[in-house]
Amino acid sequence: MGIKEGQVSSNIQKPINQNQEHATAASFAEIQRMRKSLPAYKVRSELLQIIRDHQVVIIIGETGSGKTTQLAQFLKEDGYCNDGHLIGCTQPRRVAAMSVATRVALEVGVEIGDEVGYSIRFEDKTSWRTKIKFMTDGILLREFVTSKMLEKYNCIIMDEAHERSLSTDILFGIFKNLLSSRKDLKLIVTSATMNANRFSQFFGGAPMFTIPGRTHPVQIVFSRQPVSDYVESTILQASKLHLSNPIESGDILIFMTGQEDIEATCEGLKERLIDINSKKKNRNSADSELSDIEILPIYSALPADVQNKVFEPTPNKRKVVVATNIAETSLTIDGIKFVIDCGYVKLKVYNPQIGLDSLQIVPISMASANQRSGRAGRTGPGVAYRLFTEDSYFDDMYVQTIPEIQRTNLSNTILLLRHLGVRDLMAFPLIDPPPEQSIISSLFDLWTVGALDNFGALTKLGIQMASFPLQPSLSKMLLIASQSGCSEEMLTIVSMLSVPQVFYRPREREEESDQARTRFFVPESDHLTLLNVYAQWKANSYSAGWCKRNFLQYKSLQRAKSIRVQLSALMQKKSISIVSSGTDWDVIRKCICSGSADQAARLSGLNKYVQLRNGLELRVHPASALFGAGDLPSYVVYHEMLLTSNEYINVVTAVDPLWLMNYGVVYYNASRRVDEEEDVGLYAAESKQHLKDEVDVSIEQAMMKKEL
Ligand code: ADP
Ligand code: MG
Repeated sequence: MGIKEGQVSSNIQKPINQNQEHATAASFAEIQRMRKSLPAYKVRSELLQIIRDHQVVIIIGETGSGKTTQLAQFLKEDGYCNDGHLIGCTQPRRVAAMSVATRVALEVGVEIGDEVGYSIRFEDKTSWRTKIKFMTDGILLREFVTSKMLEKYNCIIMDEAHERSLSTDILFGIFKNLLSSRKDLKLIVTSATMNANRFSQFFGGAPMFTIPGRTHPVQIVFSRQPVSDYVESTILQASKLHLSNPIESGDILIFMTGQEDIEATCEGLKERLIDINSKKKNRNSADSELSDIEILPIYSALPADVQNKVFEPTPNKRKVVVATNIAETSLTIDGIKFVIDCGYVKLKVYNPQIGLDSLQIVPISMASANQRSGRAGRTGPGVAYRLFTEDSYFDDMYVQTIPEIQRTNLSNTILLLRHLGVRDLMAFPLIDPPPEQSIISSLFDLWTVGALDNFGALTKLGIQMASFPLQPSLSKMLLIASQSGCSEEMLTIVSMLSVPQVFYRPREREEESDQARTRFFVPESDHLTLLNVYAQWKANSYSAGWCKRNFLQYKSLQRAKSIRVQLSALMQKKSISIVSSGTDWDVIRKCICSGSADQAARLSGLNKYVQLRNGLELRVHPASALFGAGDLPSYVVYHEMLLTSNEYINVVTAVDPLWLMNYGVVYYNASRRVDEEEDVGLYAAESKQHLKDEVDVSIEQAMMKKEL
């Protein structure tokens, strides 16, 4: 990458494409006017001056003040890319990285991937011409593997730092060390108002610059009673607001926790309004369309073009955006007058005692509640409806959201840091240290998968695992598959596990789609079912029509295909062989077992399983191929666990207990049970705790020795 001499950046704006030239010119002028009205633009020269004068600057500004969209452009205009360097801007979320890059490309007047691009895991929309690169913080962290000094960049903007994502926190530590040897590198940390002081202290008292913002008063309305069903209450509140306020008064932004309740809210609201309309008109048949309201969801699994709809104006219609936390600070939607806040968020929560990482719906923090409410006061006075009581705000909510580093499994991060030469996370500079128990538990996990040796050093397998942008269990499956002669197939499985749901199950055609899904089932394995789906799609020339007929998500499959291409290129680069096992699929199950031996369960009772390590009671998810395929297998491994009213396991594969013993030797003891003939029973190894303590001690000792 880089620009040759004489090819230095030009500030001449090119129209996006020829036939759009006319339309673009008009909207381009409009966009430039809008840019100039942003609070960040008003302090442009002060901002650039403070950045020239200091290596690290913390920039604070209200959401919507132009930090994300303007800063990188200012830097480019100030000549930071002229010597061929890049400006990098990190985002904690994929959706935000894509969306803001698209917006900035539009503002600059180029196509995405040209001068302005983005890079998220498995999707790189940059080229040699790119000067402003938006990316997830995870991507920048990975870039250190190939370029320890980050030579390509001369400015890094770490955006949305207040989110305190795991990768952001780790990047801070790395930058703290890097900045002294890269004096020419500028680091700009942007943050909503919370946390800014701590960032400044962390970087030795770096200057803080506040973008003066205009905010308007927001009236806060708490719920008087605790709310039992927040989707239902939201629907009631939103329809009341819509019907009792003229459309011109403003739009509604609703905060929900995830895809499921967002969809339920969108549909419920639509149904309710149609119902009310038809009663008003005193008609029996309801209109199926609403003429004065546009209800738009936004969550990460939505395709980018659908996501972008939330930004489009809706003339003569009220816009209702139903969003995840993404709209809290990452994305700014103009024209919001009313906010409805369900009071919950979906967060990753790690329980080191049982070694379980899960997404849970938990109450938001006070800081989050205030950010959410603030979204109603951007363009004028607004109202925020909180679906929780004032008492619960003061009594049940944390002041700040707990940073991800303190509530997540650290295996992946530790593996990467070891690869970067950081041995001891406890001695690594961090704003908030993780609980010691999670470090130890993650080290133990890495040791059991064979990524660390008894002294806590990376093994050859560990080094290879670290070079894949995959969770350790998946990279191990892939590597073991290569040794066992089925990596061709495992590549497909791992790629299919890296995309959102491939089966499509529309509400009105559930039965039909379930039947279609059944036709792909490999009764002993969901992993193999995914392999089967992909193989048949390939046999049908990767056709979109075929997907549609078979109730498969074409976009997900296409994405899996692209991930597969990238992973196989990586394998070739690392000289890891790609071989097919032909019709032998048992060896594939064995390799799946090698990566998932800690996620194993034994049948106990009619359709219940018991997790072998922690004794949790589990059920196979009704969507699994194993479900209803006759007798359930005695032992299974699984890819994911869903914590709902029941603990479900999903993407499940039947395994031989002897494989489990082989690959999970640390976890399991075999004993011949007398009550069942010749049956090998596996039990969580009694000595596990003992073993774990021993390993912990030796890892700790090894770390201490190294430091001395
Ligand atoms: P900040 O990062 O300070 O929160 P942004 O730079 O994201 O602010 O947004 C600045 C302004 O740009 C917003 O007020 C909004 O009006 C506009 N904007 C941002 N993204 C888009 C988009 N995709 N479409 C239309 N307008 C946008
Ligand atoms: Mg922003």
